[in-house]
Parts: sequence; C-alpha cells; structure tokens
Amino acid sequence: MAKVLDSKIPAGPVPEKWKEYKAHQRLVNPKNKLKLDVIVVGTGLAGASAAASLAEMGFNVYNFCIQDSPRRAHSIAAQGGINAAKNYQNDGDSVYRLFYDTVKGGDYRAREANVYRLAEVSNNIIDQCVAQGVPFAREYGGMLANRSFGGAQVSRTFYAKGQTGQQLLLGAYSSLSKEVQRGKVKLFTRYEMEDVVIIDGRARGIIAKNLVTGKLERFSANAVVIATGGYGNTYFLSTNAMGCNCTAAVQCFRKGAMMANPSYVQIHPTCIPVHGDKQSKLTLMSESLRNDGRIWVPKKLEDAKALQAGTKQGYEIPEEDRDYYLERRYPAFGNLVPRDVASRAAKERCDKGFGVNNTGLAVFLDFSESIQRLGIDEIRQRYGNLFDMYEEITDVNPGEKACTKNGVDYYYPMMIFPAIHYTMGGVWVDYELQTTIPGLFAIGECNFSDHGANRLGASALMQGLADGYFVLPYTIQNYLADQAIWPRLSTDLPEFAETEKAVEKEIDRLMNIKGKRSVDSIHKELGHIMWEHVGMGRTKEGLEEGLKLLKALRKEFDTNLFIPGSKEGLNVELDKAIHLRDFILMGELVAYDALHREESCGGHFREEHQTEEGEAKRDDENFFYVGCWDYQGSDDKAPELVKEPLQYEIIKVQTRNYKN
Ligand SMILES: Cc1cc2nc3c(=O)[nH]c(=O)nc-3n(C[C@H](O)[C@H](O)[C@H](O)COP(=O)(O)OP(=O)(O)OC[C@H]3O[C@@H](n4cnc5c(N)ncnc54)[C@H](O)[C@@H]3O)c2cc1C
Repeated sequence: MAKVLDSKIPAGPVPEKWKEYKAHQRLVNPKNKLKLDVIVVGTGLAGASAAASLAEMGFNVYNFCIQDSPRRAHSIAAQGGINAAKNYQNDGDSVYRLFYDTVKGGDYRAREANVYRLAEVSNNIIDQCVAQGVPFAREYGGMLANRSFGGAQVSRTFYAKGQTGQQLLLGAYSSLSKEVQRGKVKLFTRYEMEDVVIIDGRARGIIAKNLVTGKLERFSANAVVIATGGYGNTYFLSTNAMGCNCTAAVQCFRKGAMMANPSYVQIHPTCIPVHGDKQSKLTLMSESLRNDGRIWVPKKLEDAKALQAGTKQGYEIPEEDRDYYLERRYPAFGNLVPRDVASRAAKERCDKGFGVNNTGLAVFLDFSESIQRLGIDEIRQRYGNLFDMYEEITDVNPGEKACTKNGVDYYYPMMIFPAIHYTMGGVWVDYELQTTIPGLFAIGECNFSDHGANRLGASALMQGLADGYFVLPYTIQNYLADQAIWPRLSTDLPEFAETEKAVEKEIDRLMNIKGKRSVDSIHKELGHIMWEHVGMGRTKEGLEEGLKLLKALRKEFDTNLFIPGSKEGLNVELDKAIHLRDFILMGELVAYDALHREESCGGHFREEHQTEEGEAKRDDENFFYVGCWDYQGSDDKAPELVKEPLQYEIIKVQTRNYKN
C-alpha cells in the first residue's frame, strides 16, 4: 500500500498557524525535562542553536561534531548575511513580503505554512543575536545596517562584513558554552554519527565513531536531532567545506527516514572559476557583491575570443561593447535576480561562446561603476575581505584601477562562474521538523527545508537559526511530552549491540576491499558524473546515462577502493570513504528525482522544459508536490517515490517574473 505522509500542518489561516500551534502543543514540565535526554548531532548554526536552547530549557543534551571544535562547523564560512523582515530601511518590507519572496524565490515548491513561520520568527533571530553580542554592521546613527540580496526588492539582509556566519556561530557558541559550563550540554568533538538506533520504531540513540581512537561508542536518548548540513560535496567540487558530508542523513534514510526533493541543488552564480584539474574545492564570492558589482560579458564574439586567447583584457573593452546581460534580460531585478536565474544566464552566455577566460567558462563581475560612484574606501568597507580573498586566490585586485579611457576609470573585474553551493533537498520533515522516523528530527540544511526549488541568498542562516532557536524547542516538546515516563534506555539493549555490529562489519568491508583506487580519485569521478549529467542543465538521456554511470561507480567503489592504514586510531581516508559511500547513494537519489520531475523549477532545470526565452517551465498540474523517496532495503534497489501534495491558501501560484 502506498505510504501517505502527514505534514501535520495546523489548521487555520496561514498567518495564525504557528501561534495556534504554540498555544495548543503539549509541553514538558520543568521536573520532567530534567529526566529527558536529547542527542543533537551537529554544531553548526542549526545544531548549536538547538543544543543551547534545549539545554537552557532544562533538557540534557549530548552534542556531537566531527571537527575539533563546534566553531569549525561549516556555518562559519557563511559570508553575506541573514535575512529578517525588520523593515529598518522603511522600504516596504514586512513578514508577508519576506514570506512571499521566499515562496516565489523557491519557484512555488515550498510549503506555505513553513515559510510563513520562518518569516515570522526571522525578526526574533536578529534580536537574539544582538543580545548575544553579534557585531552586525551598523549605520552611522547606530541602527543595524541592511543590504540587498537576490530575489528581493527591499534591503533586509543583516550582515557582519563578509563574516556573518562566523559571527553568528560565535554567538551560538557562546550560548552553547554557557550550557556546557552548567553541565547541561555534554560536548563530543571529533565524533561521527555512523548510525541511528531504532527501538520499537522510534529513534532512541546513535552509534558514533570516536575519530581519534577509531572506536565505536553507543549513546541513548529520548530523541535524536540531526543538524549535519547539506550534500553539496556529492559533486566533489563545491563551495562547501571539505568535511561537509551527508553520512548521517543517508544512514537515517537507510533506516526509514524519507529523503525529499533531492534534485533541488543550488548552483551559485558567483564563484571563482575552476582552475585546472588539481582543485579539491571552489571558493564562493558572496552574493552581496551583486549589490554593487555588475555582471557582464562582451557584446562581440571577437572580443570574447580575444579574452579567451589572452590577447585582450576585460578592462580594455569599452562600456558600449559590454553586455550587462542580467540588467538587459531582467530590468526589474537586474544583477539581483535569484541564484538559479543568474547561474543559468551565465551558462547561456558561455554556451554561446561569450565566456571570458581561457576555458570559456567565466563571466565578469565588475566594480568600476560603483567605485566611481561611491569611492574605493566605501567599497572596501563593504567588501574588503572578499576583495582580499579574491586577490589571494587569483592575484588580481578588483579594487585596483586598470586604466582610464575617455575620462572613465576601469578597474580589474573579477571572473566568476556558477558552482554547486547549497542543497534545498534533504531529509523529509513535517511541520514539527520530525522525520518519518518518530523521535528523529532534522534541522538546518540537512532537512528539505523551507526553500522549495531554490533558496534565496541569506535565507539559509535564517532557516538554520529559526529551526534551532525558535521552532524545534517548541515542536520537540510535543513529542517528548509523554516520554518522561520511560526509564532511561540502556545502551546494552540488543538494538544497540546489533546496530554497532552492523557499523563495525561495514567498516571491515571497506577496509578489506584493498583495491587500487584512492577515495579522492573515485570522488572526483563522482563529481564529473554529477556535474555533466545531473548538473545545471539536465535531460532525460543525460540523467539515464548518469544513473548508469553512478551504478558502475558504486561497483568500482565496492571492488577497487583502497584505504591505507587500519581502522584503529585516526584514519582520515577511512572516514572519507564512509562519506563517499553515502555521496554515491545521494548522487543516485538526486538523479532519480531529477529524472522523474519532468518540469523545470528553481535549481532543477530540465532542458526539455523551458520557454522560448530559455526560462524554467514548471508543470503545476503534474508536479505540485514534494517528491519524497523511500529506501527499499538495499542500496541496489531503486527508491520508491511518495508524494506530499502542496496546498497553497494565500499565495497565487504563478510564473516567476523578475523582468518587470
Ligand atoms: C561559502 C558559503 C557561504 C555561505 N554564505 C551564506 C550566507 O551569507 N547566508 C546564508 O544564509 N547562507 C549562507 N551559506 C549557507 C549556510 O552557510 C549553510 O546552509 C548553513 O550554515 C548550514 O548550517 P547547518 O547548521 O545546517 O550545517 P553546518 O554548518 O554544515 O554544520 C554541520 C554540523 O554537523 C556536524 N556533522 C556532520 N556530519 C556529522 C556526523 N556524521 N556526525 C557528527 N557530526 C556531524 C559537523 O561537524 C557540523 O558541526 C553559505 C554557504 C557556503 C558554502
């Protein structure tokens, strides 16, 4: 019988749902909280905020991360900012407008009720972070400053230079540290969750590997929360930190947690282009740069050819010969169209031969006009650390004047190209952020989240902190309310022993393959398959071919992998191999989902489904649902599709328009 998903969206008008939920949810009384343990896996913005909040409320929290400090979670890399509907600029912002922009930005594939709640709590996040001492940028008069991000016509992005994630994480970390000091949070750094333990159908604990000793350990709790980030590194080259992985999420999938919308992968338009084939990581140039930087390629093919051959430089091309293609195609939003739109437009220009570097896979991001208008000091104040980062990597300083022609100053432009950045898909959760396994919750980037088919810039930090500070602390109580009557579960129970044994057996299997290929070489091949066949432009034939290649690659992994060293003690190659096993399965899930979704929406672009102007063509009649995938007991078996229909009550579903 087909499975049915209950999203548990509360009844009532959309703007009232969250208030209603909070008014009627079950609570846990203070004494009972002391008896309840919660495992939180992850110390990024989602995990740290959840762990600190739950501990502050009185629960006992066990908090895990793979790094040597919670502060090294990938969230620290976030540059540009965090959205909130404060309307400090008095430019017409409101909770409704943030909600509307987010639903529209996600190409009408997100849940209305979740997104409204997200917009509603956005303002609390800013207040919370300011109270923690997060040094957001301020106006001269002391008011918090804002800048603009893609997909919005208001300025609602709060930022701390180009280090917003770092500052927010320090804020969350200080709250977490207070709870560690109080003894309410027990921190396990350099521990990796390898599996979830299910007892009588509920998540009751985890098996974690001590990454230093190599030993497996058992942890039991009344609920498990995973906050383990996204699966962008499936593509090998991405803007994500190299340790980012989807092992916890995929292992939960194998145990019955459905995976939702895996094909919704975000390709960010402003990354430093790939240089050669020895790279293992790509660098993001924050979207905030599109506030003042203008994106262009030459109008004339001969200029593009000269740029590709290195016989001409960008600054030598005069204003009248530049094609500011985003401003031309999308006059209302210009350079601030959403990421999926900007990425596709860059690909379109490069596919037509207008790319500006030696590979033909780059466009310019130019600050000449804004430097002349505002002065280099102001521009450096806004983006100084990003300019420095760009210069360190490319040896080009975008703030340096290259020449003056006819009284116009031309600066060295940056070169950028789209790259894998963020994953909107992830573990399916209901309105309470609970997965299809009772007692297992997923928050932050690892859930399928509130972003539909495309996430707007500065909305991931908002969602991670909304989940951790303001949503989960309420909804998890609804689950935990009747759990205090149960005695603490012993980790000697057979379910713990069996799960640990299965993990051990799997590690032995990997160690004993003793083939010839390194983890990285197989991972690189996975990245090529994903980018070529499941990347920015997808087709039925390409996806079918991609799936075949992925299956063959899994076979190669299973028979020809080589892991040096032993399973005892620290073995980074073994840890990477475990991650790669799960990236391959995740890659297949992305391909299955992309193949079945015969429409284009947001980050999922099927070339068969586009308008004459090359815009994404949705099919609301047949695909207005969340595509959820159910594991069928073996990695070899195709997952089964389960649909969660979307229901919109207040937003009219229409074609996205960023032109006027
Ligand atoms: C370069 C860059 C810049 C960005 N800039 C912005 C921005 O300006 N604004 C914005 O809104 N978003 C931005 N994003 C997106 C945003 O940073 C992420 O979506 C967000 O930080 C994810 O937070 P998280 O807490 O869900 O996961 P993460 O920060 O990735 O944390 C994951 C945690 O899980 C732990 N973990 C993982 N697996 C395991 C395991 N098996 N066992 C134990 N622990 C595990 C890790 O140790 C870590 O603590 C950016 C992303 C990138 C790549």
